[in-house]
Amino acid sequence: MTSATDSAPKPSSNFLRQIIERDLADGTYAQRRFAGTPGDAAHHASGQPDPAKIRTRFPPEPNGYLHIGHAKSITLNFGLAAEYAGVCHMRFDDTNPEKEEQEYVDSILDAVKWLGFDWHANGTDHLYYASNYFDFMYRAAEALINAGLAYVDEQTADEMRHNRGDFGHAGTDSPFRTRTPAENLARFRAMRDGQLADGAAVLRAKLDMASPNINLRDPALYRIKRAEHHNTGNTWCIYPMYTYAHPIEDALEGITHSVCTLEFEDQRPWYDWLLDTLCTLGLLAQPRPHQYEFARLNVTYVITSKRKLRQLVDEKIVDGWDDPRMPTIVGLRRRGYTPDAIRLMCERAGTSKAGGWTDYASLDIALREDLEGKAPRAMAVIDPVKLRLTNWAELFSSEAHREPCHAPANPHRPELAPRAFSLGHEVWIERDDFAELPAKGFFRLFPGNKVRLKYGYVIECTGCEKDASGAITAVLATVIPDTRSGTPGADAVKVKGTITWLGVHDALPAELRLYDRLFTEAQPDAGGKDFKASLNPASKKVVHGFIEPSLANAQPDDKFQFERHGYFVADRIDHTASKPVINRIAGLKDSWVK
Ligand code: ATP
Ligand code: MG
Repeated sequence: MTSATDSAPKPSSNFLRQIIERDLADGTYAQRRFAGTPGDAAHHASGQPDPAKIRTRFPPEPNGYLHIGHAKSITLNFGLAAEYAGVCHMRFDDTNPEKEEQEYVDSILDAVKWLGFDWHANGTDHLYYASNYFDFMYRAAEALINAGLAYVDEQTADEMRHNRGDFGHAGTDSPFRTRTPAENLARFRAMRDGQLADGAAVLRAKLDMASPNINLRDPALYRIKRAEHHNTGNTWCIYPMYTYAHPIEDALEGITHSVCTLEFEDQRPWYDWLLDTLCTLGLLAQPRPHQYEFARLNVTYVITSKRKLRQLVDEKIVDGWDDPRMPTIVGLRRRGYTPDAIRLMCERAGTSKAGGWTDYASLDIALREDLEGKAPRAMAVIDPVKLRLTNWAELFSSEAHREPCHAPANPHRPELAPRAFSLGHEVWIERDDFAELPAKGFFRLFPGNKVRLKYGYVIECTGCEKDASGAITAVLATVIPDTRSGTPGADAVKVKGTITWLGVHDALPAELRLYDRLFTEAQPDAGGKDFKASLNPASKKVVHGFIEPSLANAQPDDKFQFERHGYFVADRIDHTASKPVINRIAGLKDSWVK
């Protein structure tokens, strides 16, 4: 601490850090043992004192690509573990047999690694699959039945829904609720052995059908579903419900702080009941995990619903899951956003119980901060028109003469070798850097005006050439001698404008993909709005321009700042040295400010 205001929270403090710090101070988890692998009470009792001070987990369902919201959960869970000498488990919550695929497992692992996190700690890979816990979950279910705390309900789905009641009305006990443990055990085993049809029965906890918390009105624990599971094949025809499986997964893994989003707040009493009960029955190790909820990250100008993202892909509104306009991790990565920028943005978005919206611009701000000191500078001409320097041959005695020019690779890193390129009698400039009839306040090229070609000479515009349709085909100018940047006379002629350019002789042609926000509305799907109504028609523009010769060896994923234009990246899929493809990540400043 640096100041006298010791009682004031650190700027980055949040309620989760406070809870963890309190638990560490109280030694809540200090006596905990961890056997090195997940397991029940007996397993962990045989283990060593846990070398991890806390355990958190990131538990995605492998049923889709991760998005910016998941990045928040990843940075939070892995970040807290790193901060407090803990370990964060990477866990696939793959208890639902139907929707899960290896493709998603691979892409999720890839995304977490790319964001800079690692589940390897204390010599162990803490990569877990909830489906490996099916045996234990089944055993725990039988234990609940034997304790008279669970029963097999054979009401129809409709009856069950009706008898659950609602906010204003208590539920009604199922006629199957009074079955004896022996009867329930027999029926549950019949479920397991495939003697009942899909949906014919569920195993339910026996809690309180009148609870004001509907989640406690005898929640379902197991259902019958004949479906092949990617890990366990056809071993099971009954599968645990998420709300039953998740707390058990946490406990088997020795998780201390189970962090989830607010929609699970109402499930916490159930989480506590289940784990306390299984601890009392001697099945799970103590001290058990606790659940804490925070408000999910909502980012303006994007949607994060998996279903809607899939719709964008399926309807070819975007070019796949990794389209650079997608808020998926693969999309953000291809767009050129860096792991550091994404993590910084997630940290700044904060962690609280109060929901809110994080402006998409904060991601661009984080990106600029990350790349400002790192990304090499270069010039690019996005909408090229030729500029001819008509006195070149006269001044340098040959049209073929080239004036070598240099520019800093990055002004913050003077130790780097400067970029080299050259000026010749014809250069590419931006079409809008010339105006035949300048508007008031226009300081760039117009007949009679002088500007500096950045890192080169001051030139004076003399006019332009046009084709039959009146379109400008070339801008004409003369070089003013002795004004070269970096030479003693450079400042003799004062100019109000400096423009970027590239020599026609050494500029590299490039495909430039100018990406912008996918939606024009800040909350495209809020309140059930049709998000397709606010698609931004200008979210992708592909143009053919030129880039500086210093980028001849640019590799896919390399990032640069194009002077005056913003941050760009060599496309990680399509870019090659012979056919450069460059994506715009973000402008130099926010063009969306209201
Ligand atoms: P589904 O609708 O399929 O449940 P999901 O986005 O919740 O989608 P999960 O795979 O269950 O997907 O998410 C993994 C973890 O990421 C969960 O702990 C979830 O709470 C968290 N998470 C998902 N979206 C956000 C978000 N916008 N902000 C913060 N955390 C999120
Ligand atoms: Mg979920």
